[in-house]
Amino acid sequence: MDNQKYLSSDELLEKIFYYMSRLFEEKELSTTLFLLTDLGKTLVNSDRASFWFWDRRKHTIWTLAALGTDTIEIPENSGLVGASMMNNEILIINDPYSDSRFNPAVDRETGYVTKSILTMPVTNNDGKVIGAYQAINKIDNEGNDAAFTEEDVKRLSLATAFCGRSLESYMLYNEAMEDPLTGLRNRRGLHAHYERRIATLRIYEKASIIMCDIDHFKHVNDTYGHNAGDEVLKYVANLLQSSIRIDDGAFRWGGEEFILLLPHKSTAEAIVLAERLRSLIEESVITFEGTDIKITMSFGVSEINPELTTEENVEAVDAKLYYAKEHGRNRVISELPESDPEESNEETEN
Ligand code: GH3
Ligand code: MG
Ligand code: MG
Repeated sequence: MDNQKYLSSDELLEKIFYYMSRLFEEKELSTTLFLLTDLGKTLVNSDRASFWFWDRRKHTIWTLAALGTDTIEIPENSGLVGASMMNNEILIINDPYSDSRFNPAVDRETGYVTKSILTMPVTNNDGKVIGAYQAINKIDNEGNDAAFTEEDVKRLSLATAFCGRSLESYMLYNEAMEDPLTGLRNRRGLHAHYERRIATLRIYEKASIIMCDIDHFKHVNDTYGHNAGDEVLKYVANLLQSSIRIDDGAFRWGGEEFILLLPHKSTAEAIVLAERLRSLIEESVITFEGTDIKITMSFGVSEINPELTTEENVEAVDAKLYYAKEHGRNRVISELPESDPEESNEETEN
């Protein structure tokens, strides 16, 4: 294992440059965190390391699970990492079991024994904490347990300066993709997601798209006010986001219009999902300042045609949504009739 010995200064620099060049190109947070984690572990020679990202909006901190890209998300003030971030403080703890901030629950559950911990906050350009490193169980050159020292702090600080920058550039990139009201990704986010997750599918791998729109939403605004309307949008966004799998994407396409991109889902599966969402929405009661608001939504469902562009696929599913609107709303349409006289009328009129 190449992390079992302390690196020389030259080796260290080489490692840092290697990771940094990869980090600057990286656009996915999970890969970014993975690279940062690996770098931290290499620098201080620890048995384990994690890089924690602080999501101030959600008041949580999260990291990748030891294997794969699953994440662990906990409240922002939990444990030593939380304390280190909240107080912008480096923590070196070589006897964690006698520190009240240490939570031994994970050790108890996994059988792992934590002997030493080094936690270091990572700040952005303005000195604001945006994440933290945590290295666990220092190993010396002979492979034995050791204690973290100021030397490790020095080494890790080398990385944290760079980490702050790459993490911040990632955050800025993502802010541009996000709708501030609902927290879903916006149109730009959809295009980016499409390129990464849909356009890269093999020819035999199916994907589906659902487009949905709140029925008579103007009426919600007119009756209950714009703030109530905003609350409804947030409710719908939440419901959509919590009803999909990790690989799927939920997007706010425009005003009260949303899109779900579903890699590996057949049309039949997407129809089941759309029908479930339709009925969940119909049964929902959204409370705003003591008033109960009821809404319905219309849905279009299509299989993604890899020969078409993103826009063309959206247009195709939009036609189905339009049909649902024209035929009573609060319904899911996955197929258009061969030729619908009403529709062709509309088209010649416009
Ligand atoms: P339909 O069933 O045909 O979709 O009717 P509709 O009233 O939902 O559709 P229409 O396009 O006539 O109205 C959409 C409304 O959504 C108008 C616009 O003011 C409102 N809207 C768009 N964005 C927002 C937003 O961010 N917040 C709020 N509160 N309203 C918004
Ligand atoms: Mg609408
Ligand atoms: Mg609309």
